Amino acid sequence: MKLSTQLLIDGQFVTGDGPAEPILNPATGELIASVPEASFEQVNRAVNGAQRAFAQWSRTTPAQRSTLLLRLADAIERHAEEFAALESLNCGKPYLAVLNDELPAVVDCFRFFAGAARCLQGPLAGEYIEGHTSMIRRDPIGVVGSIAPWNYPLMMAAWKMAPVLAAGNTVVLKPSEQTPLTALRLAELASELFPRGVINIVCGRGESVGAPLVEHPLVRMVSLTGDIATGQKILQSAARTMKRTHLELGGKAPVIIFDDADLEAVVAGIRTFGFYNAGQDCTAACRIYAQGKIYDKFVAAMTDAVASIKVGGPREEGVEMGPLISDRQRNRVASFVERAQSSGHVEVTAGGKIRPGNGFFFEPTLIAHARQEDEIVRREVFGPVVSVTRFSDAEQVVQWANDSDYGLASSVWTRDLGLASKVASHLQYGCTWINTHFMLTSEMPHGGMKMSGYGKDLSLCALEDYTVPRHIMVKL
Ligand code: NAD
Repeated sequence: MKLSTQLLIDGQFVTGDGPAEPILNPATGELIASVPEASFEQVNRAVNGAQRAFAQWSRTTPAQRSTLLLRLADAIERHAEEFAALESLNCGKPYLAVLNDELPAVVDCFRFFAGAARCLQGPLAGEYIEGHTSMIRRDPIGVVGSIAPWNYPLMMAAWKMAPVLAAGNTVVLKPSEQTPLTALRLAELASELFPRGVINIVCGRGESVGAPLVEHPLVRMVSLTGDIATGQKILQSAARTMKRTHLELGGKAPVIIFDDADLEAVVAGIRTFGFYNAGQDCTAACRIYAQGKIYDKFVAAMTDAVASIKVGGPREEGVEMGPLISDRQRNRVASFVERAQSSGHVEVTAGGKIRPGNGFFFEPTLIAHARQEDEIVRREVFGPVVSVTRFSDAEQVVQWANDSDYGLASSVWTRDLGLASKVASHLQYGCTWINTHFMLTSEMPHGGMKMSGYGKDLSLCALEDYTVPRHIMVKL
């Protein structure tokens, strides 16, 4: 497999001048590659290149941008197996899941924004003051600095690049220092299609490469998918140069299961949506509230279902769940479970332990009898750990579900669609699914409320986020 370790800066592939970052295989703990990070000067060159490219790129027509995005989508599709192999190697994800779930979504994201670029709409031009015609434009913002996390590296690169480019901006993307490989391969395909400087990829750590990108005066907007603490640092830094910000931060999704829910469907759903990507997902179905009468049946069936999840390396036959991204992340997850157990009132009914041997594996874990005030119910674990809490009525559960700093995703499970709709209307989350969870589509917005951040990925909302409405008035 070909490994690209060079950065794309102003149309040139260059080796980073900064210290080399070891890239590990989470399934074995072995070194895959070393990627030298960008120096301060290289970040500066990338931003300046993007700024120069903006002059021409921002004047291309939507049709021209659309054509290139469609070609990039085709190129990714042609190399789908290579991308899936690279992503599963770097993240430890099951290869077939990357190939069959993530790659089609990545390709579709580029195709959606290729179409959306040509469909932006707005208010009508007209004479709102006598003798003057007003019209609205939606123009690109300039250079966008995009900073991505490690959980879905290629998909996050797609979410960050496609709407930015479709809107006529140029981009400097910084993938996570732990998972740069697919973005660097994407850079090679993109550089054959897009004009010099439109797409730049710089790798490295947050403090050394992310921070100078955010501080750069020519970067007009910063988009981050990452931790709340990182979002807060970025907001503080962005305030100095009054940058626009787009923040997709963490989540702690409440999953509300009423007594009349289809038990089999709920259990199958949580088995998938709570443990997909080893639970390293900001929308993971991790905070279950089950109503009094279904509670015991649910915990029993869910315990068996969780115990049956097949954990293993990316290419193992029938594997459903891989390792966590790093030893550090695994220790963090293990410490959450230990603290939960030390409360005395919870019961770990499945998993709960580090899997011995190589790689950063943690067992899929179910924690029953958790209480609303418990840390395991309140803080994001970002691992394969699902808690279950008993509730009595709709009013109580809506109050508990909303009693959270997070506001990204939620779900309601019941056969009573009237009840589901009412509960959904009272939840303070960017998304509420009814009788499912986790399903995203390019046409619909994804993003949070409260400390989960603001700004939408996917959909026309994202395209609007990466443009600025402007008023043009003509005196007749
Ligand atoms: P992180 O915040 O540590 O890192 C995210 C990115 O920010 C990385 O590229 C990192 O290098 C960079 N970064 C870190 N410090 C920085 C700084 N001071 N300045 C600029 N850049 C900096 O998060 P992570 O550990 O990579 O990802 C996990 C987190 O991301 C979880 O909290 C998860 O919920 C969140 N997440 C959110 C979404 C969403 O859509 N809301 C999606 C995926 C992940």
